Amino acid sequence: MSKAIIQIDGNNFYASCEQMIDPSIKGKGLVILSNNDGCIIARSSEARKMGIPMGTPYFKLKKKLKQLNIAVRSSNYELYGDISNRLMQLLRKNCEELEIYSIDEAFGTMKRPKDKCLYQWSSNLRSLVYQNIGIPISIGIGETKVLSKISNHIAKKIERNSGIFDISIIENKDYYLNQIEVDKVWGVGKKMSIWLKGRGINNARELRDMPSNQINRKYGVVGIRIQNELKGKLCIPVKEISSAKKEICVSRSFAYPIDTLEELNQAICKYVLIASAKLRRNNQLLSAIKIFTTTNINSKDFYKSEATIQLNIPTSNSKVILEQSLKLTRKIFKPYRKLIKAGVILHKLQGNQYKQIPIFDERSIQEKFRHKTLDNIIDNINKRNKSDTLSWGSSTIKKEWEPRREKLSYLKTTKIERIPSVFAN
Ligand SMILES: [Mg+2]
Repeated sequence: MSKAIIQIDGNNFYASCEQMIDPSIKGKGLVILSNNDGCIIARSSEARKMGIPMGTPYFKLKKKLKQLNIAVRSSNYELYGDISNRLMQLLRKNCEELEIYSIDEAFGTMKRPKDKCLYQWSSNLRSLVYQNIGIPISIGIGETKVLSKISNHIAKKIERNSGIFDISIIENKDYYLNQIEVDKVWGVGKKMSIWLKGRGINNARELRDMPSNQINRKYGVVGIRIQNELKGKLCIPVKEISSAKKEICVSRSFAYPIDTLEELNQAICKYVLIASAKLRRNNQLLSAIKIFTTTNINSKDFYKSEATIQLNIPTSNSKVILEQSLKLTRKIFKPYRKLIKAGVILHKLQGNQYKQIPIFDERSIQEKFRHKTLDNIIDNINKRNKSDTLSWGSSTIKKEWEPRREKLSYLKTTKIERIPSVFAN
């Protein structure tokens, strides 16, 4: 019990980021829309209390949102990413180890003080994060990752816990574990929860106490790990370094359907450039590219297509990836189809420290060097200014069919000119 696992989660993260940069919507109903202003993907707690459901198409609720005076924002991933970085940096300074789990979630470890109590430490951390970043967080503490996730759930659910809960100091956890439905247990997916419920296992306590051989037969080590973690035996340690990405996907819906090869090419170019810049940031190379497109699934002549190409020499060079991807767009394009979405997936990724190059082709080596220099220049300029300050001509998308983001917050934490000025006399 000397080392505690801490699970930290930003409350209603996207909504909290928007409320942080715009105090006029603090404490009010607020919803965030998906790409292209399609569906509701996040809500402030106030909007949730007003009964606004997740996942509903925006156009269906537009009138109701107005009546209830609920603010609407387009998703602003640049903002959420920036706030997430700041949050993680602060958490890293305050935990012994830290594993970033998602944009708004992290697992940490902390040694318990002599009196074993981490409430004061947690309370200080919550205040520090709120003061420095303006985001409310919840803190769940447990002996294992699975228990710390359950703890966080309880921290959020019961108001008097004020966002902090430590399940490890409770000897008999049955009362709490009985309240956690089995599909809410971390690691239990949809299939596993159906299988468990079919056997009368409906909550976390029942999963902990079921015969191990049953779960072992069906789910092997994965199932046993979850059960052991529920018993308080640490099986899934906190990993400080997140494992390298296995693939990178960039896809978008269009503001209105497109039906020419030229437009599809422009879209694919743009997504390829975003994806390959990401690849270089991760110090990775790819060996396969997949591109795909689709019409509306409900349309009469529904059409969906994808194509993949394998490369002999792994690369991260934008020019090479663009050339190969544009060969693929000709394969997936079909005239008169109203395409509403397209994307690219970079596959078979590997670290760039072991790169094979053809040694007998001197011209190719020089050319590769020039390509690399060009990529570096573009990446550096875009990093210093704005992500698309410098780009390839082929990726110029007509403004009209770029995804809709009509309700985008104006203020930004990533651009100096969008930070408000304060005047004092
Ligand atoms: Mg969250």
